[in-house]
Amino acid sequence: MHVCVLGAGIAGLSTAYLLNKAGHSVTVLERASVAAGASGGNGGQLSYSYVQPLADPGIWKQLPRLLLSPSSPLTVRPSIDVKQWRWVLSFMRACTTTRSVMTTAHLLDLAASSRELFEEILKAEKLACNFTRTGKLVIYGDNASFEAGKRQLSLQRDLGGAPQQAVTRDQAIDIEPALARSQRSFVGGIYTASECAADCRLVCEELFKLLQARGTRFLLETTASAFALRGKTIVAARTDMGDVFADAFVLATGAASAQLARSVGIRIPLYPLKGYSVTLDIKRAEAAPKVSITDSARKVVFAQIGRQLRVAGMAELVGTDESIPPSRIRALTKATESLFPGACQLGMPRPWTGMRPATPDGLPIVGRHPSGPRNLILNTGHGALGFTLAFATAAQVAALLKDFDVASARLAVPVALRA
Ligand SMILES: Cc1cc2nc3c(=O)[nH]c(=O)nc-3n(C[C@H](O)[C@H](O)[C@H](O)COP(=O)(O)OP(=O)(O)OC[C@H]3O[C@@H](n4cnc5c(N)ncnc54)[C@H](O)[C@@H]3O)c2cc1C
Repeated sequence: MHVCVLGAGIAGLSTAYLLNKAGHSVTVLERASVAAGASGGNGGQLSYSYVQPLADPGIWKQLPRLLLSPSSPLTVRPSIDVKQWRWVLSFMRACTTTRSVMTTAHLLDLAASSRELFEEILKAEKLACNFTRTGKLVIYGDNASFEAGKRQLSLQRDLGGAPQQAVTRDQAIDIEPALARSQRSFVGGIYTASECAADCRLVCEELFKLLQARGTRFLLETTASAFALRGKTIVAARTDMGDVFADAFVLATGAASAQLARSVGIRIPLYPLKGYSVTLDIKRAEAAPKVSITDSARKVVFAQIGRQLRVAGMAELVGTDESIPPSRIRALTKATESLFPGACQLGMPRPWTGMRPATPDGLPIVGRHPSGPRNLILNTGHGALGFTLAFATAAQVAALLKDFDVASARLAVPVALRA
């Protein structure tokens, strides 16, 4: 069967990899270049055990500070865009304990199977992607947030998540000695020894090279704008370079997926959640963290990737504005200097921005839409965890397409809308 995968980010490329392995002929269609979207400069965390969705009842208490503080990691720029308001309302409805617990359980399962698959591929294909298994430490600035972190730890333990431990400030410094110089006060942390990190862009580039060598066709700098339909079946993706024909289509265009889905009359609850990163050269190895660190108050993550420190954070609901305000980059470099003084060269921060494809409840959208074309599979909405979850949702897409009947263009399996 010939499958056209739209989007060459981590979701599209991991899907293309598994489809190629299953013996399908694959074309990847990408409007720019490999990893041009959110997969290109993200935090690099394979965050298999930190999956708590943003839509949590705890957000209500934090909301005044998050919305009013000038140093807040969250920015909402209200617009007349009805899609923004619809997303915000769905997000607020998802902020209940029941939904948050269900989502956490679901994400832990997905993350565990993604880890298994990614590590298998990493070993089999020897992907050069600066993969490390140095663990992750989330540090808390005050007792109230530390207690909330401990409650999440015990929930995840009950749900069968990987071992995690609550540690005092001194124990945190034993785990990551670079924290001893920190000018920021913190009261303790949650440590997960099994967490990993890697460069998501390098994973994408490695998969691209492998796939090209194995016969996958890449149409880069080719923008899809719509689909050509015959009844309820897509026959081609319409692009600025002409029509691309295939038997089935996988929509993995990240934060831009809602627009393409609308072109075939389906509405998916997706909105871009903008974030930023800087990539800093390490100048004093002993002052830089080896363990991945999350500063929970600032919602900033630090991961050593090769000889550099990737620092990522912020969440902005500002539509599709891709500008990079210098103040955001200053905030990230300042956060680095206060937590790890003297560790990095701050002069050349390599600023980057990306749009998380965010669903209101934090769960990806995988499968065929009940009212959509028969041969369109969605694989999007990975939000803040796309690198972590991509291989699990790619496997779900590959499983759906295994039972695909080309003659009737019908999926023989039940429709699965959520991952
Ligand atoms: C600041 C930040 C930090 C993050 N940190 C982490 C982290 O530490 N760990 C983690 O697991 N996740 C993290 N994420 C989330 C993760 O980066 C995303 O969930 C993931 O990259 C989404 O992958 P994707 O392939 O769905 O989308 P993308 O990577 O955005 O790929 C979509 C691709 O589709 C292409 N495209 C769009 N429209 C069209 C079109 N019309 N025609 C053709 N091509 C099109 C785009 O050019 C793009 O290349 C972070 C995100 C941000 C912004």
